[in-house]
Amino acid sequence: MSEGIAVELAVELLRAARRIVVFSGAGLSRASGIPTYRDADGLWMNQAALRFSHAEDLARDPAGFTKFWAERLRVVEAAAPNPAHLALARLQRLRPATRLVTQNVDGLLTRAGAVDVLELHGALQRWRCDHCGNRRGPWLLQRCIRCGRRARPDVVMFGELLNKGVLLDAQVAAEESDVFVLVGSTAVVYPAADLPELALANGGQLIILNAEPLALDHSATAVLRGKAEELLPLLVDGIDGATARS
Ligand SMILES: [Zn+2]
Repeated sequence: MSEGIAVELAVELLRAARRIVVFSGAGLSRASGIPTYRDADGLWMNQAALRFSHAEDLARDPAGFTKFWAERLRVVEAAAPNPAHLALARLQRLRPATRLVTQNVDGLLTRAGAVDVLELHGALQRWRCDHCGNRRGPWLLQRCIRCGRRARPDVVMFGELLNKGVLLDAQVAAEESDVFVLVGSTAVVYPAADLPELALANGGQLIILNAEPLALDHSATAVLRGKAEELLPLLVDGIDGATARS
């Protein structure tokens, strides 16, 4: 399938869809300069990331833990949404039934204007205190204002379970979707990897936008190879044109 035909087909599927789910991973935020967990040159591969990716690391090395996560927060706060985030926020305005599910913890979809984003792995901008249970900031110097002890970002760390409510919402959205769009994610990490399968098993069609080939490509109705920040605006322009004419 040529690239142009794949884009046209994807636009047709999205135009006809009543319920769209867009599931995004690190590829969505790459153009915003957010280092990814799995890239060979990514932050996750360096020593600090390996030492502070478990919640128990806070007790083992409190100062190092706080420094590492405060730095990750700083990078995210300095970043801006890119055209891929803005396109998805626009899609949601055109089709309010669209659900956005993401593995990213950067909060950039929300900052782009998207609403009710299902953040499977939490968000770096939200912090919490596991000592006293406080979830309200401000988090001055990453400390809890209630008990004064060190807080942690409200993200799912290695060895921790996903938030059950968020996961359930994402599963229901996937099951009910006519079109499930997978963007910039290899979708190999369970349980998130189940979501495209759930959509397919319930009669949904799959559109994949990814830089590299995926095992799931053979299950997709349309496969678009390229950058999220270039492909997503193209797709949403296509739907927007149809809406304007109807
Ligand atoms: Zn506390």
